[in-house]
Amino acid sequence: MSRFWSQVVRDLTPYVPGEQPKIANLIKLNTNENPFPPSPRVLAAIRMELGDDAARLRLYPDPNADLLKMAVAKRHAVTPQQVFLGNGSDEVLAHIFMALLKHDAPILFPDITYSFYPVYCGLYGVEYRTAPLSEDFSINPADYCGPANGGIIFPNPNAPTGRLLGLAAIEKILQANPDSVVVVDEAYVDFGGETAIGLVNRYDNLLVVHTLSKSRSLAGLRVGFAIGHPALIEALERVKNSFNSYPLDRLAIVGAVAAMEDEGYFEQCCRAVIATRDTLTSELQGLGFDVLPSAANFIFACHPQRDAAELAKALRERSIIVRHFKLPRIDQFLRITVGTDAECQALTQALAGILA
Ligand SMILES: *Cc1c(COP(=O)(O)O)cnc(C)c1O
Repeated sequence: MSRFWSQVVRDLTPYVPGEQPKIANLIKLNTNENPFPPSPRVLAAIRMELGDDAARLRLYPDPNADLLKMAVAKRHAVTPQQVFLGNGSDEVLAHIFMALLKHDAPILFPDITYSFYPVYCGLYGVEYRTAPLSEDFSINPADYCGPANGGIIFPNPNAPTGRLLGLAAIEKILQANPDSVVVVDEAYVDFGGETAIGLVNRYDNLLVVHTLSKSRSLAGLRVGFAIGHPALIEALERVKNSFNSYPLDRLAIVGAVAAMEDEGYFEQCCRAVIATRDTLTSELQGLGFDVLPSAANFIFACHPQRDAAELAKALRERSIIVRHFKLPRIDQFLRITVGTDAECQALTQALAGILA
């Protein structure tokens, strides 16, 4: 605290990201990064952009990143006017809170969800109410179909539970809220969900958010996007152009285009993660864990006889880090990112040792 701080800064409760430890030989299963490298075409495109002397870095990037808008639009069968790009989907989400969710009525999201949502509410002065997940940690669509609200946001699959809501339920929510924007944060949808992007031409209140950080292995490049009605996209562009004209740098633009165009590699990586997730789930069940059904690249598991914080600590002593949230209802769960087969084997072996 300092006398120089504005009142806004005094009142903030910032988001705390999962740690990125600077320790070698760690098995890092705490922040849902992809265990596979990005498509080799990404590096080739970045090298090409740099050229021999990186002289192009002298020039600003395309403020609209049109090449990437076109690549995203093509991949998802929409028009470039339906695409908004940002420096990671966190930035896209931030602009959404400011541009489309700040109204008189409180917005709605689940009690257990991505913990950045309440942080953006604090930053932008957006009021919110939470709807409790069911006993089995699923989202109950009826909770979002009654009360007047200033907007709705949830991840699908939800984080950190991994549970998926079907498209029929999402359509019900869209129909019940014609005067609110419904934001579906599909950070993990490529690992087993069905995207709602196919609904954007029928619902002008739907905004679907994606990231290249998880399924495209590019958390370090910082690229995310939203797809929705051109009027929603225009609102986001207005905020973006009042904040930072160049959220995507030259390397991010060409790298992301290459990633969006390499469909074969993308599908291969997603399939491998899904197969490893299924193996990991049954092995953890064999060790006595309850594992929620996951459509994401992580699993959410709890052991009926062991304290989750102690398990996380014991794993850390064995150089394996997973995520534990000290929050009501989920403090006995561990969120474990699906790593490579070898990493997951090391995890299950370590857990077997700890439980023995
Ligand atoms: C990882 C994640 C994001 C943020 O992704 P970035 O594009 O890396 O900013 C957004 N929403 C959810 C639910 C996530 O898990």
